[in-house]
Amino acid sequence: MNLEQAKSLDAKALHKAAAKLKPETRHFIDGKFVSSKKGKTFQTINPATGDVIAEVARGDASDVDAAVKAARKAFKSGVWSKMAPRDRMAVVYKFAKLIEDNALEFALLDTTDMGKPISEMLNIDIPGAVMTFNYFGETIDKIEGQVTATAATEFHYILRQPLGVVGCIVPWNYPLMMAAWKTAPALAARNSVILKPAEQSPLSANLMAKLFMEAGGPAGVFNVIHGLGEEAGKALALHMDVDKIGFTGSTEVGKLMMVYAGQSNMKRVTTECGGKTPQIITGDVPDLDTAVQYAVNGIYGNQGEVCNAGSRLIVDAKIHDEFVSKFLDKAKKSFSPGDPLDPSTTMGPLVTKEQQKRVLSYIDIGKKEGAKLALGGSTPKGLDKGCYVSPTLFTGVKNDMRIAKEEIFGPVTGVLTYKKLDDAIAMANDSIYGLAASIWTSDVSTAHKAARDIEAGIVWVNCFDHGDMTSIWGGFKQSGMGRDKCLETLTTVTQTKSVWMHLG
Ligand code: NAD
Repeated sequence: MNLEQAKSLDAKALHKAAAKLKPETRHFIDGKFVSSKKGKTFQTINPATGDVIAEVARGDASDVDAAVKAARKAFKSGVWSKMAPRDRMAVVYKFAKLIEDNALEFALLDTTDMGKPISEMLNIDIPGAVMTFNYFGETIDKIEGQVTATAATEFHYILRQPLGVVGCIVPWNYPLMMAAWKTAPALAARNSVILKPAEQSPLSANLMAKLFMEAGGPAGVFNVIHGLGEEAGKALALHMDVDKIGFTGSTEVGKLMMVYAGQSNMKRVTTECGGKTPQIITGDVPDLDTAVQYAVNGIYGNQGEVCNAGSRLIVDAKIHDEFVSKFLDKAKKSFSPGDPLDPSTTMGPLVTKEQQKRVLSYIDIGKKEGAKLALGGSTPKGLDKGCYVSPTLFTGVKNDMRIAKEEIFGPVTGVLTYKKLDDAIAMANDSIYGLAASIWTSDVSTAHKAARDIEAGIVWVNCFDHGDMTSIWGGFKQSGMGRDKCLETLTTVTQTKSVWMHLG
């Protein structure tokens, strides 16, 4: 069922459809679904109910090796890497269309697997994935080399070539969309890919692989390996015949990717990692109500399981009380945890019991550190089977508290105050992370100064989380050194070659 049809279903119809799901749970290698060589599996669990959804193939180094061999064979054969650009474009456009046409299945798979509200799948993740494949599809016949200026006796040109086999290791918070952000540019640039989804949300990856073949993609070009990070992920990142790892996930594991590259074949690595995004709300904010609504959405959307979640609200002391009172009001009206398969639900469970425990432990830490709990702080009533945490706000937060320094990755934010803009910017920058930031101001000089001085890969002015495929996505400092979306990404999945000819 396509996107528009899926959007018209109510909770009852969605539950009925979810009960009929029979997800494919094996690896996808060389155009076929295959079990793990050793027959091992792991469980994937619905975090809203605690029910086991499926037993999924648990890959190890031998399964990864089979996928790498298939990807290399396909790359060398030229079935994709040498296919005419217009033909490759047709496959990628058709693939994007098939994702849209199978929106219901994608929405049900990711929502039951990781808990996000189905309305987010239908309005953000699926349109985002479709747009990603269309955007990178459009680049296919525009990836160009260069002829440089030389003496008349010489001819020099630069080829931009694919890398070969690209491993894409992705997290669980946007399973389909993160897989699209990583695989689409790699495929557009003629590489073969091996997608390793997170073990918490493995199911939609197989549907992607199946639809890529249905769209006319050749066998061996799009492979999927399931399994645990330290097993399948590590084997992929250590493999001697993988040319690049495109990684999205935690900073801790992002650092390991660089270690694995050094321990193996010096493969290229790009990392998109964690964040602790500051939102600076100045005293001359153009419209406080709008800024507060964005602050609320920016932390509670997707249960706060967002790399750029606005988890530090740096507010001018003059407007602190008004800001907090409006925040509490809007948060209560906008977000309340519930059944993620109900299209009216705004907040689902966290991804696992472990994540729920981790987030609740940060709430305890915040209280012990002396921050004041102004909202939430516990599990919502009547939802005990699921991994829920209520929308939570701390006030009186200081930047040296752990709740202001560490990525919580849940629906928890804190208000810090400042008196001078320079102090607000210094506070924003006092972090190991630098993924994103925002500033709300009516003063054009303040806006430009902040945009220049904030140490982050993305700065929003009088908005939050706006952007399209042309805007870059990537961080400064320990938020990683890759870039997703945007044309620049193509430079991370290609390599240049200099060809110098002496003409005599
Ligand atoms: P994670 O680092 O635990 O896992 C990410 C992926 O790495 C998974 O597929 C996992 O199986 C794999 N992995 C784990 N250990 C591994 C190892 N030793 N070797 C190889 N692979 C391994 O992250 P997560 O919990 O899945 O996702 C949450 C994190 O992702 C947060 O820190 C969040 O900020 C980050 N994230 C960043 C962006 C961005 O664009 N910057 C986007 C989404 C999520």
